[in-house]
Amino acid sequence: MIAPGKRRSFQRRVLAWYAAHGRDLPWRKTRDPYAILVSEILSHQTQISRVIPVYETVLARYPTAEAMAAAPIEAVKAITDPLGYKIRGRWLHGAALQVADRFGGVMPQTLPELQRLPGIGRYTAGAVMSFAHQRDAPVLDTNVARLLRRYFGVVASPRARTRELWSLAAAVIPKGKGYLINQALMDLGAMLCRAKGPRCDACPLRRSCDFRRMARQGSRRPLP
Ligand code: SF4
Repeated sequence: MIAPGKRRSFQRRVLAWYAAHGRDLPWRKTRDPYAILVSEILSHQTQISRVIPVYETVLARYPTAEAMAAAPIEAVKAITDPLGYKIRGRWLHGAALQVADRFGGVMPQTLPELQRLPGIGRYTAGAVMSFAHQRDAPVLDTNVARLLRRYFGVVASPRARTRELWSLAAAVIPKGKGYLINQALMDLGAMLCRAKGPRCDACPLRRSCDFRRMARQGSRRPLP
């Protein structure tokens, strides 16, 4: 449970920082759920700078799920495999096949339906709901999880921690602004609250961050 004042301050600071420093990424110029799905699967464990040209190639060649479904899987993998993590080509093609066959080419609009597509977990389904369908769905990638863990000082056991982080990710969404705050948290986590060497001095949350407070008090607790 977050105190309302702390939640409002968190939201205000994160959104103001994002307005000034958010990244300009090609998939932020679309609300097409298929394009969002492509961007999320390609971004999995991969540097954004390497993802962008592949994302553009995939969409130029296969602008819809039906176009991808009609292509041989080898052709899709030939584009995506150079990024590494080669299972993603199979996920993409498998998801496109199901969208074409089971949903008439229209991307599903509910979390449970999205999560039944190959390779789509809670995070990716949440991203499609938030970034394409404009719902206030939480999005918890590794960067957001690290930021929330540090800021709120989450110290629960791994399983309870995951539950708590999902609930925090939902609780910090201002009504009707899921898209903005999710993008903001992803950028803040990736750019400032980095796994190694967090840039706390540049962070808009530094005055009320639990991790920062512990560091100032000289805690020897390892980087969470
Ligand atoms: S102050 Fe530092 S640890 Fe806290 S959220 Fe910002 S970057 Fe992360």
